[in-house]
Amino acid sequence: MIRILILALLGYVGYRVVKRWARDKLRSGHVDGRMPDRIDDVMIKDPQCGTYFPRRDGVSARHADRDLFFCSRECRDKYLAANSPPAA
Ligand SMILES: [Zn+2]
Repeated sequence: MIRILILALLGYVGYRVVKRWARDKLRSGHVDGRMPDRIDDVMIKDPQCGTYFPRRDGVSARHADRDLFFCSRECRDKYLAANSPPAA
């Protein structure tokens, strides 16, 4: 009876080890090429109102050859209205 338990335990441990090994191998293969470049939850500051917010939640706008991010469309519109030359 105890032999069966030991075998079951060994089988379980073996299974865990193989599973972890496979996962590490998979993950390291993944990391080795390109990875962080795209971090989506960077906190950035709204240049209009000064609020910090995650960039993925922001409203983007291109202004003076730069990509800017705002916490809301209102801020974007205000900023662009205040910083753009008046339309001819
Ligand atoms: Zn704002």
